[in-house]
This record gives sequence, C-alpha cells and structure tokens, in this order.
Amino acid sequence: MSDLKNKRIITVATTGAWPTKDNTPNVPIEPVEIAEEIYNCWKEGAAIAHIHCRNDEGKAAMIFEKFEETVNLVRAKKDCDIIINLTTSGGVNLKEEDRIKPFYELKPEMASFDCGTMNWQHTTIFENNPAFLEKLGALMQEVNVKPEIEVFDPGMIYNAGYYIKKGILKAPLHFQFCMGVAGGIAASTKNLVFMKDTMEAVAPGSTWSAFGVGAGAMEITYAAIAMGGSIRVGMEDNVLYRKGEIADSNMVFVARAKRIIEEFTAEAATPDEAREILGLK
Ligand code: ZN
Repeated sequence: MSDLKNKRIITVATTGAWPTKDNTPNVPIEPVEIAEEIYNCWKEGAAIAHIHCRNDEGKAAMIFEKFEETVNLVRAKKDCDIIINLTTSGGVNLKEEDRIKPFYELKPEMASFDCGTMNWQHTTIFENNPAFLEKLGALMQEVNVKPEIEVFDPGMIYNAGYYIKKGILKAPLHFQFCMGVAGGIAASTKNLVFMKDTMEAVAPGSTWSAFGVGAGAMEITYAAIAMGGSIRVGMEDNVLYRKGEIADSNMVFVARAKRIIEEFTAEAATPDEAREILGLK
C-alpha cells in the first residue's frame, strides 16, 4: 500500500436532513436516488458515504425501513466498496430508539456521534444529552461501528476527551469538524486551526475531517487540505456549487474536492485506504 500520509478521505453527504426539492431539484431524497448518487460519487473519488433518509414527504426522519432500503441498494452494487456511515441525527425531536436502530441493525462501518447539544440555527435544540451519548457510545462499541465524532464547537471536543477517559469512546477517534452552522463555531481558517490544536491536546492520535456550510465552505475545504486533513462535501452542507449557482449533483462537489487534493499534490484515499487510516476492520 502506498504512503497513507498523503491520502485524504473524501466523505460525501448527499442528502442530510434539510434541503428539499424546493431548495434544489438535484438533492437525492428517495432511497433509490440516494443509492445511485452514492455510487456515482464513489466513482468520482468519495471513500465514505454519510447517509440520511427522509420520509415519504421528503422531510427529515429516522425511518428504519428507508435506511435499510438505501443501505441494501448501495451494498447490492458489487463493484462499489464505499464505506457506509449512517447518521444518528436525521432531524430533531427524534426518539432515541429511532436514532439507534439503523446502525445497530444494519451494522455500517461508521455512524455519526454528535458530541453535545446545541441551539441549532437559532430555531431549535439539537439534543444529544449525556445519558444518550453514553448509550450511543456503548452500543457502537458493542456492534463494532466506528463513531464519526461530529463537533460543532470546541466544547464538544472536550466532551469527546471525557468520553475517552470514561471508556465510552475508544481512541483513536475520527473527528468531523462541522463549521459554520449558526449556534456553533464559524467556518474560518483561524477557527479550524484552533479546532485541530484542541483535538490534538484532548485526543492525541485522532484523525480528522472538516467542512464548512455556506460562505465558509471553500475556505474550510482548502484550509483542511493544506493542514493535512480530510474533507466532507455534499448537499447536506451546501446546495450551491458557488455563489448563486445550484449544484447539478453531489458528484460535482466530489470531483472538485478530488481536483483540489490533487493540485495540492496529495491523493484522494480509496475506500480501502480510508479503512486503513481509520482503523476499520
Ligand atoms: Zn448528517
């Protein structure tokens, strides 16, 4: 295997909980659309697919059958070895069981672990209370699903450090720095440096990835690559390819990320290289 130090993992988040067909007709919503989009993103260089599903109205929901259908469709594409990462946060005011069941039953290689509660976009509470996070960490260890530690501000990194000490999370961790969401840390290079330094102090040996939503998206992409990190792209975080221009698909984001990585003389990790970097079995 070639030198992994120069490999950057591209995660694609095709759908998320928020964008609707009214925001962009190009967001995949149905399981068959999502699976097809993931397959095409894998062909463009994505190594991880972070998956959300929607209800029949296209709204945020954690419906097990939708996850099952999507995951089965992706797994049915025999040449596609993309790493499946299921959300545990497909909306707000969800039942804990509904957040847990998809990863617990479908056993993807990864699932998101949102490491704290926040006031989401000045509108609602994105709740991840301590008892829930303890349960989530234990269950992920039980079924050997690697948590993707999503952190929206530096305090959540310290939460992760606490959970390592308590045995709820097992080092080395993989962090996703989610930046530019109102209620969390703003998407700037200065803040990204601070997030990375904090992570290295609190959870040494961790790997990391980052994304920015909105105006800071490209700054975080370039800064993360320059700082040796991995990146996440896709319509969960941005429906615009650039200011005023709706993206045609998720594939255009993946293709751009790969181009930027290669211009930096790094390389996009294949799924198997990403497995080695992340310690997935
Ligand atoms: Zn997500």
